[in-house]
Amino acid sequence: MNSCATLEGEEKMKCSLCGMVYVEGNKLDEQQHRQHCRQVERCKRKFGYWLEADYTARERVKQENWPAVNDSNADLASRIAATKEILKMWFSRSVGESGWSLTHPEFRKWTGMFLQNERTVFPSEVFNQLVKIYPAPRLRKRKAG
Ligand SMILES: [Zn+2]
Repeated sequence: MNSCATLEGEEKMKCSLCGMVYVEGNKLDEQQHRQHCRQVERCKRKFGYWLEADYTARERVKQENWPAVNDSNADLASRIAATKEILKMWFSRSVGESGWSLTHPEFRKWTGMFLQNERTVFPSEVFNQLVKIYPAPRLRKRKAG
């Protein structure tokens, strides 16, 4: 049997917890899914239950929050709150790209590093506030001057 073929009556499932698409009833798929799901759960326990493993859900959260981030008439606190939601989704992607590694930096530290590299991604008034909340992590090897 060709493992790439889709059998008739096979149903693809998308897990709402870990975002993985797998074929229900396929032993290998189900086994891989269980492993993935457990690892995502470990990451949620460590990094936060807001961690979003599903690409589509991440995109939706970002789309919902960008208008508030860019709304220069809104108060800064609500713009920062919207920005944090977007950062959480980028953080989730980063943890996913690390293979759901528990050694991935925590949200605070990761955001501090991210902001150093992405200085123009948010409006400057939002960015200036964010770097106070998430300062750049101190580098042990940095020398003065
Ligand atoms: Zn799952």
